[in-house]
Amino acid sequence: MKFIDEYRNADDSKRIVDKIKNILRHNWYIMEICGGQTHTILKYRLEEILPEKITLLHGPGCPVCVTSVEFIDKAIQLSFHKDVILTSYGDMLRVPGTKYSLLYSKSIGANVKTIYSPIDALKLAKDYPDKKIIFFAIGFETTAPATASSIIQARKMGLKNFFVLCAHVLVPPAIEILLKSQLTKIDGIIAAGHVCTVMGFKEYIPIAKKYKVPIVVTGFEPNDLLLGIFMTVKQLEEGRYDVENQYKRAVREEGNMSAKKIMFDVFEVVDRKWRGIGFINNSGLKIKKEFEDMDAEKVFSLNTQIDEIDTECIAGLILQGIKKPVDCLNFARKCTPENPLGAPMVSSEGSCNAYYKFGSVKINN
Ligand code: SF4
Repeated sequence: MKFIDEYRNADDSKRIVDKIKNILRHNWYIMEICGGQTHTILKYRLEEILPEKITLLHGPGCPVCVTSVEFIDKAIQLSFHKDVILTSYGDMLRVPGTKYSLLYSKSIGANVKTIYSPIDALKLAKDYPDKKIIFFAIGFETTAPATASSIIQARKMGLKNFFVLCAHVLVPPAIEILLKSQLTKIDGIIAAGHVCTVMGFKEYIPIAKKYKVPIVVTGFEPNDLLLGIFMTVKQLEEGRYDVENQYKRAVREEGNMSAKKIMFDVFEVVDRKWRGIGFINNSGLKIKKEFEDMDAEKVFSLNTQIDEIDTECIAGLILQGIKKPVDCLNFARKCTPENPLGAPMVSSEGSCNAYYKFGSVKINN
């Protein structure tokens, strides 16, 4: 298959791994931020062909996993409002809030629907004018432009029954928090290609310099990741801390200017709480005043004071790369994709889910 097979070619993989072995002198900890990349690493067993001196850490780039309990509880509250249809992506429905999930609220009478894009929610708003359609919007810079576009579209269409519960978050502030932390050990970073397709990579340049950590923008196929790891190791061995772009076929330094424009026409940057990590300054997107007639948090009454829950899930440590899923006592025992205790096992981009699905690794406990 053109444009895929060439990035999965086993001979090329071996050549890249040999190049890594030839330059490798020291032990390095390299974090891939994106959950999609974690899945590729596990699916193609890349850790098994890499030299032992390289340890891969899995970062917080799973949109479902980082959405705070508060937002899930707000979505659940909204789903019980009169005449509301609460819409979101499938994985989001299964993640537990303080007491239960959106899927459970659906089972006890709330009107909750799975959608595949905000366009589906807009269509529902058009088709059901007597209902209030709320789109629970989650995710990073990759999905935020589509949410922004749906808000502008709803305004153009004159829809009065379309609302957004906006839980979008931004990646660079989260990377900074991890690099500042005493608990994490990160020598180099593999940055998510799709986030940079939208945002470009200028924002990463001061971060790489400040924390003396090379950052390599990387794609999602196995040989993309091996090449991204090679480029990171090369910088580390040479004592360089630059931002480099492995994913040139999709990413430009300035990103996608029209996607960024639409995003910042509709949203403004705010502080945001991340599940398992806590508040991160300037890491969230909020709907601007100009569009607040579509902001579900403004339009509907909500109880916003919700305590963090006590759980056996160590998702916070997993999302920060401090522990791996196999270090969790519940992994593959009490916690499975059928009976998940936490978001990283629910989500198709979660690292616990990746380890469970492609588990060539032994359980540590
Ligand atoms: S295995 Fe389950 S309980 Fe353990 S960290 Fe992952 S999601 Fe949480």
